[in-house]
Amino acid sequence: MKYYILFGPPGAGKGTQAKFIVEKFNLMHISTGDLLRKEMAAGTPLGLQAKQLIEGGNLVPDEVVVGMIKSTFASNKDVNGFLLDGFPRTIAQAEKLDQMLGEQGEKVDKVISLAIKDETIFKRIANRALIEGRKDDADPATIQNRIDTYHQKTEPLIGYYKEKGNYCEIPGEQTIEEVFSCICKELE
Ligand code: ADP
Repeated sequence: MKYYILFGPPGAGKGTQAKFIVEKFNLMHISTGDLLRKEMAAGTPLGLQAKQLIEGGNLVPDEVVVGMIKSTFASNKDVNGFLLDGFPRTIAQAEKLDQMLGEQGEKVDKVISLAIKDETIFKRIANRALIEGRKDDADPATIQNRIDTYHQKTEPLIGYYKEKGNYCEIPGEQTIEEVFSCICKELE
């Protein structure tokens, strides 16, 4: 089983690239953001808890997302591999993932990181707000908090995976096609 992580700040283009990657490489896409939005739309207790945090631009607790990942792995045993999008987002989540995979004799095969400037993040998210209507995209203070949270809690993962030797970085400010072609070179 292959395990790939698509990493990067909000607005880096993970969702867009994920669609192309899973199709070409026959993987299952797991987006913790999408899973959380489904819970929110269904109005589950977990969704209600997540809504407050997400709309303030904060992360949801590690146990919540780790639980979602665990149950998705458990109920999809016959796939070729997984593309994780938006997970892990903290060192604790990455450690938990390594532990989970280690117990099955598996590991993270590659971390593909899409790099963009904070300025670009801001522009892209504000633009996406007009198209997708996500509440966490609409308010500049929320966007700023997501960017700050990314730098504080998620960016340290770059060092974590660099040390493991499975990290690669792709400039995210090229066209969608150019970014995808760089990703393909890494995965082929
Ligand atoms: P983004 O475009 O910000 O990358 P996502 O759709 O991946 O958006 O996630 C939306 C929100 O869901 C995040 O801002 C965060 O509040 C929550 N979330 C998603 N994944 C995680 C995670 N792994 N850990 C904690 N919170 C998460």
